[in-house]
Amino acid sequence: MSIIKLLPDSVANQIAAGEVVQRPSSVVKELLENSVDSGAKTIRLVIKDAGKTLIHVLDDGIGMDKDDLKKCIFRHTTSKIRNSKDLYSLKTMGFRGEALSSIASVSHMSIISNQDDNNSLGCEIKLEGGQEKSFNEVVSSKGTSISVKNLFFNIPARRNFLKSDNVELKHIIDEFHRISLINHEINFIFINNNNELFNLSKSIFKERIIRVFGKSSKQKLIPINEETDLAVIKGFVFKPEYSRKTRSTQFFFVNSRFIKNSHLNHAVKTAYDGLIQDNLYPSYFLKISVPLNSIDVNIHPNKTEIKFDNDQSIYAILKSSIKHSLGQFNIAPTIDFDNNINLNTPYSFRNKEASIPKVDYNQAFNPFDNLTKPVDLKTKDFEITSVNDFVGKDQIKNELEILKTNSFPSFQLKSKYIITKTSAGILIINQKRAHQRILYENFLKELSNKTNPIQTLLFPIKLDFNSEEIRMLKLLEAPLVHLGFKFNAFSSENIEISGIHPFLNKKNINELFQDFLRNKDYSKDYAVHTLNDLIAKLLSKYSSISSNENINIKLQESLVNDLFACKDPNVSPFGKLIFKLISLEEIIKIF
Ligand code: ADP
Ligand code: MG
Repeated sequence: MSIIKLLPDSVANQIAAGEVVQRPSSVVKELLENSVDSGAKTIRLVIKDAGKTLIHVLDDGIGMDKDDLKKCIFRHTTSKIRNSKDLYSLKTMGFRGEALSSIASVSHMSIISNQDDNNSLGCEIKLEGGQEKSFNEVVSSKGTSISVKNLFFNIPARRNFLKSDNVELKHIIDEFHRISLINHEINFIFINNNNELFNLSKSIFKERIIRVFGKSSKQKLIPINEETDLAVIKGFVFKPEYSRKTRSTQFFFVNSRFIKNSHLNHAVKTAYDGLIQDNLYPSYFLKISVPLNSIDVNIHPNKTEIKFDNDQSIYAILKSSIKHSLGQFNIAPTIDFDNNINLNTPYSFRNKEASIPKVDYNQAFNPFDNLTKPVDLKTKDFEITSVNDFVGKDQIKNELEILKTNSFPSFQLKSKYIITKTSAGILIINQKRAHQRILYENFLKELSNKTNPIQTLLFPIKLDFNSEEIRMLKLLEAPLVHLGFKFNAFSSENIEISGIHPFLNKKNINELFQDFLRNKDYSKDYAVHTLNDLIAKLLSKYSSISSNENINIKLQESLVNDLFACKDPNVSPFGKLIFKLISLEEIIKIF
């Protein structure tokens, strides 16, 4: 006996609703998207009790005529695509034709729609659990008004599963952010329990971000602009110091659609490597435009995941454009000293005239005498490039006045920390991490210099590797040579090194190369940034003073001054905290 039956529409719709309508915020998303697709100029969202009692969306878009109003609440009815080819040239948010039918099947719904100008006759359809209850002509304005009441009234399990109003409202606000940010040319009004939460008038993207996230976000924004044949990336990221503990300010919009993509998120995160602590997330608002046929939106019912044809290339473009902008626009964070001055010290020295680098790291070493002269350098004899090399030096000098260790002597604690005084309180600096940060920024700078000093070794060092290891290390050869390394041989089994960067201690060379091999990822993604970043990081690790080293007052002073001339003195290249300021208020509280 045949036991297979075609499910009635009402059951099929409820099953579909399980995917499309998970909570009130899903309804908000679908209705707002429909209004955006309708070409509305103004969209109004009104909710009660975090959407559990009412979700009402009104727009002044194209509207529906009587026939379409009757059809739109059936499954797989859509005006947005006609055939499967259209799936690869989507310009609308919707295309699956299942939102209205799904929502209708689990709520009390009313749709009023009118295609004509104000106060003419439109139609209203009322449904309960997807069943039509009435259909009437009503006087209405142009556009569509959809109200959804008593969501999940017929699925108690779902209704009980909903979280507190606060949590559900948070989900709705998240959806509202996603849609209102990218559709900044539309006016949005959002009212919750008679309180106006947002009233956003049409504006440019930047202004919309500021309206949504508050005036204070203005100073946090760094513009991103990259145009390639594969993708155009425009938008903003937050300066590293404004990174947050949550991901709620991370937005990718691909062809105007908000999407989630862990791969692209990783690209952004790695662009911030060394600039933010590991437990923080960068904030970003990025519009990525790609050819319509190079993505597949139809891989997830709620359309927030998409597949790219060229995701590796887009990863690389995204990462490098953010790195570039961070370098160009980043303003190093000021710790709140009395006069709050920005230390503007970009990595990029591209715009400066190329010159032979001044080496004042060690008085014993003069690159102008003889570039290949062997020098015996102790790593602790550092005196990193003075602040004069950075732009805005007057400002920095002012800042340093406050930090001046002459009047505020420093001392070492446990050969590990440098303690000094500022006008704001007591500063405790982890000397090793501070030195790593200084060296890291210096190595990055040297990687963009034309020439760099080298330290020739009296006795070359020979290191053995297998052929796979050699293949990987080969990728590092050119940048390392640029940084003063000299390789006598790079054969299939070993390398012979006869020159190294002057800061490096030759005892650490083997360990440095082993570390390069442990960080194999650089070979996967051929972006120069990743490679340079890794080299600068590891060189700083193996060139820095240790956390158990006595350093004299003069070096302590240079360390403090050089640290605060850095682009980001807050965290080490490995994302660790470098210093802690114990403020006067905190000290007062103790007593
Ligand atoms: P989809 O958006 O995937 O097409 P929906 O179920 O969300 O499917 O909507 C079905 C159809 O109803 C849409 O294709 C559109 O023609 C019409 N529609 C829905 N909402 C509106 C609206 N606010 N204004 C005008 N037409 C709408
Ligand atoms: Mg839709």
